[in-house]
Amino acid sequence: MTRVQAYKFKIEPNGTQLRALRQFAGNARKVWNLALARQQTQYAAGESFTNAFGMNYWLPAWKKELSYLKASPSQTLQQVMADLNQGYQNFFAKRAAHPVFKKKGHYDSFRYPQGYELDQKNSRIFLPKLGWLRYRNSRDVLGTIKNVTVSCSSNTWHVSIQTEREVAQPIMKATSLVGIDLGITRFATLSDGTVVEPRNSFKRHQRALAKAQRVMSRKEKFSRNWKKARARVQRIHTRIAHVRQDFLHKTSTTISNNHAMVIVEDLKVGNMSRSAAGTVKEPGKNVRAKSGLNRAVLDQGWGEFRRQLDYKLSWNGGMLLAVPAHHTSQTCPTCGHVSKDNRRTQARFACVECHYENNADLVGAVNILARGIAHLQGEGQDTTAAAVGQATAAQIACEVNGARARQQQEPTEVSQLAFG
Ligand SMILES: [Zn+2]
Repeated sequence: MTRVQAYKFKIEPNGTQLRALRQFAGNARKVWNLALARQQTQYAAGESFTNAFGMNYWLPAWKKELSYLKASPSQTLQQVMADLNQGYQNFFAKRAAHPVFKKKGHYDSFRYPQGYELDQKNSRIFLPKLGWLRYRNSRDVLGTIKNVTVSCSSNTWHVSIQTEREVAQPIMKATSLVGIDLGITRFATLSDGTVVEPRNSFKRHQRALAKAQRVMSRKEKFSRNWKKARARVQRIHTRIAHVRQDFLHKTSTTISNNHAMVIVEDLKVGNMSRSAAGTVKEPGKNVRAKSGLNRAVLDQGWGEFRRQLDYKLSWNGGMLLAVPAHHTSQTCPTCGHVSKDNRRTQARFACVECHYENNADLVGAVNILARGIAHLQGEGQDTTAAAVGQATAAQIACEVNGARARQQQEPTEVSQLAFG
């Protein structure tokens, strides 16, 4: 099967290259914002969506009007259109929020679909209109290069090299099925009783961040000291993202190595983050509580965690299954009674019918597992052994994986996830 993988390295540009990098990133951002604005204008006027091919026809006029755009390699500007098109396709398919305008200094990047050359022996990479760039060669790049993304965070530039290669269909060593309940007080509770405590990187760094932001707000905007303060704020954001990323990777690796199939709630993290403004009926209800929850949601990175679980499981020959979320925390796993009263406190589950009691997160995980098994049975999979904790999960995972498109993916960027 084909494995798509990204390798990210720090690059060491010289002065000329650094100026070019900034300009190309700025141009990519400009074109993105122009194209997005035009799509929105068209939409407001009742016109239809213009795809990447159509958007490329907008470029010549913009280059004429804004001559600095001509400095960029054309393919990087066309790639912006392809990326914006993809952003819209994800939005149309309800996989992602509507594309947003890009701000300067907030994940500056541009992408080359071709024309690059990688010289691993000499730790350098050739990029059109930039020339050879040295990079910090920390591991071998395997496979055929499909594209190269150049990005900047906290004044450090990176290349992310995406490759494709054929690998043997992995044989899953683990055999178990497990349900996972993701939460605030406990990051993850597994149906087998394992508990993963959260690492509130955001909370731990929050005070430092708040202080740095206060310092920044007291400086005169765009002054030298303001820029210094802003750089410090960005550094703290980057540190938080790294700590969290490290935690998520360690956790997702352990779980994906130990289980053949992982079942999670089909949580719409995006919806949860947006709902704080309330509904028409109940405007701004629980705004404060929700913004606290949102912060924790973002801090914990559930969406990113699921993404990692998904690709790591498929690399191992296992799979991730998402099941509907409603009432998983209110359903009694022994008698099936559904009631809010079963959940008198956040931490404790006590069934009002049969008096079954347990930790609420564990109950959630057990219910998620049960729903996953029910779903597989609905698809005609033999889960009799899995249901009693034996070993058909690996077999199911392999069958389902075999039926799926044989593509594995480790999508490129993770740092853009973080904070506004
Ligand atoms: Zn009960």
